[in-house]
Amino acid sequence: MPYKVAVLPGDGIGPEVIDEAVKVVRASGIDIECEDGLLGGVAYDETGTPLPPETIRLCESSDAVLLGAVGGPKWDRVEPVAMRPEIGGLLALRRELNLYANIRPAKTLRPLLHASPLREGRNLMDLVVVRELTGGIYFGEPRSRSADGQKAIDTCVYTRAEIERITRQAFQIARGRRRQVTSVDKANVLETSRLWREVVDEFASQNPDVSVQHMLVDNCAMQLVRDPGQFDVILTENMFGDILSDEASMITGSLGLLPSASLSDDRNGKAYGLFEPIHGSAPDIAGQGRANPLAAILSAAMMLRFSFAEPEAADRVEAAVEAALGEGLRTADIFEANTKLVSTSEMGDAVVAKMV
Ligand code: NAD
Repeated sequence: MPYKVAVLPGDGIGPEVIDEAVKVVRASGIDIECEDGLLGGVAYDETGTPLPPETIRLCESSDAVLLGAVGGPKWDRVEPVAMRPEIGGLLALRRELNLYANIRPAKTLRPLLHASPLREGRNLMDLVVVRELTGGIYFGEPRSRSADGQKAIDTCVYTRAEIERITRQAFQIARGRRRQVTSVDKANVLETSRLWREVVDEFASQNPDVSVQHMLVDNCAMQLVRDPGQFDVILTENMFGDILSDEASMITGSLGLLPSASLSDDRNGKAYGLFEPIHGSAPDIAGQGRANPLAAILSAAMMLRFSFAEPEAADRVEAAVEAALGEGLRTADIFEANTKLVSTSEMGDAVVAKMV
């Protein structure tokens, strides 16, 4: 039986990079059946809403979702705001599908080591941030502004169940890596962080095959710059994860190369999720064949690893990306002297050619 993939190309460079990702997955030998759906500005133009009900049904009936990017200047002024591609499309879809675990790997690729601002004398970075995505201060109630505008309130709320399920995801990911989880909180100040630490410790005592250390978020921000090679899996709450995952990803020095996954609970023993590059729709280069497809291709590799439990195929795709870069092939965003400039589809073809 082929795996069913809901493909949502979206706007701008989304369709260009997703074409290459699908091409590479097909070349990996894994049998997939793709069905395209509308999301974002293109969906708004065609149906009057950025997230049509058919798209939700398509995603729910698929084994995984592969997404390009949404948004662009054409829809920046759409009213009401809830009809804009990012809010009414992507954020709404994440909520609909209950995607509570955001997984962001940040890995220095050897051929691009010199692009990292921390290249001198450091261990190579190869870490994953596991961020809780649907709780914490971004969603807690009450949130309000006083009538005179002088006071504002946000509330940070976490329940045991929310902490436990994201901890389980982090441990599961650590088991496929170096089995070290760093749980990041602010337990010296916040009550939610003290509960977080308690739940993580309880889970760790029942799962001794993974080692756990706790780190305060301010120290973690500093340690990421001092020695990012020390981390394997960073487990953290919504707001801390938002900030730390951006910090970690920029240490690699290359935005066009960074994949992500947002996962929900397992279905039939496999993680259900949505896989997408972290970059946006890049309207400035859309339609020119200049987009770097590697973040989308690496997102598809995460889909193979997490949703289809096909780690060998995922390893092959990741190795092929590194091999294509190792040969000096570069899209315009990472082009430099003594490398060869290639288009979006030429880069996809090169990755396919490197797969063994
Ligand atoms: P962006 O990531 O689209 O672009 C930032 C810069 O990086 C641009 O110069 C762009 O050309 C370049 N870039 C991005 N991805 C690239 C790639 N794969 N290859 C080569 N160059 C690449 O961010 P932005 O310009 O702030 O946002 C543009 C639109 O995308 C906005 O409408 C924004 O809301 C939306 N957006 C969507 C998502 C998403 O769908 N997940 C994420 C971020 C931004």
